Amino acid sequence: MSGNKLYLSNSGIQVFLNCKRKYKFKYINKIKSKQQSPSKYLAFGNSMHMTLAQFNMLTDKKYRTIDNLHMLLRKNWKREGYQSLEEEREYGLKALTMLSNYFDDQKDQGKQNVLIEEMINKNMDGKFTLCGKLDKVYLRNDGLIETIDYKTGRNIETFNNMQLPIYILLTKEKLGRYPNIISYYYMAYNKKIEQEVTAEVIEDALNNLWNIYEKISTEKEFPSNPNTNCKMMCEYYDMCNSAKDSNFIMTNILENLKNEKRTDTIF
Ligand code: SF4
Repeated sequence: MSGNKLYLSNSGIQVFLNCKRKYKFKYINKIKSKQQSPSKYLAFGNSMHMTLAQFNMLTDKKYRTIDNLHMLLRKNWKREGYQSLEEEREYGLKALTMLSNYFDDQKDQGKQNVLIEEMINKNMDGKFTLCGKLDKVYLRNDGLIETIDYKTGRNIETFNNMQLPIYILLTKEKLGRYPNIISYYYMAYNKKIEQEVTAEVIEDALNNLWNIYEKISTEKEFPSNPNTNCKMMCEYYDMCNSAKDSNFIMTNILENLKNEKRTDTIF
């Protein structure tokens, strides 16, 4: 693969880690997938992100009211993907509650915003381009620079994935310095989980990123990694023979399980 044309984003890396064949279809062959049905989760996440970004742009205290926050949500609300009006209303009420809890106890306020919702590309030594969107970077009251990613789902993730290196490097690209803190802000719980960006964290992050770049740029086979959800979850199912072979799916699942270290088993 020609390295200088490679663009890596968190979503592309996650696709590669989950199924290399899908990565090839999507990012190398650039096969346009057939239109997938709209997702309510995506619509919900986009509505919330847009609302938070616009509210965060407001620095005039007079306008930073709960009514304006709710009004922005209604303006930004994406309607696609919901099964019924009842379901859409249920999600809308959930979003209002999350925003009310956020408004009552905002954990992302400081001296000054540095950037809000910005797409950033970073040339990685001419080998590949790292790209991603930062939700918010701001100067905290304690003088530290914090990069925040808002999470609108209910799953609590660890920092141990590829997002962390991407946020660290994209912040450096934009500001000329690394952030002091990276955080995930879980809107469903109004909780912020922070990771201090130490020299060790930066070194690990860079190693992780270069390792995954090496894997992607030297991959030749792009093997499939089918599971029982392929038909429902993958837009390339129609052109993927291995995802239709039940025995292959099950042997693949068992092989994957063998390599997993399970800590949650009680017998
Ligand atoms: S159908 Fe499954 S195995 Fe095939 S490309 Fe998609 S995710 Fe991979």
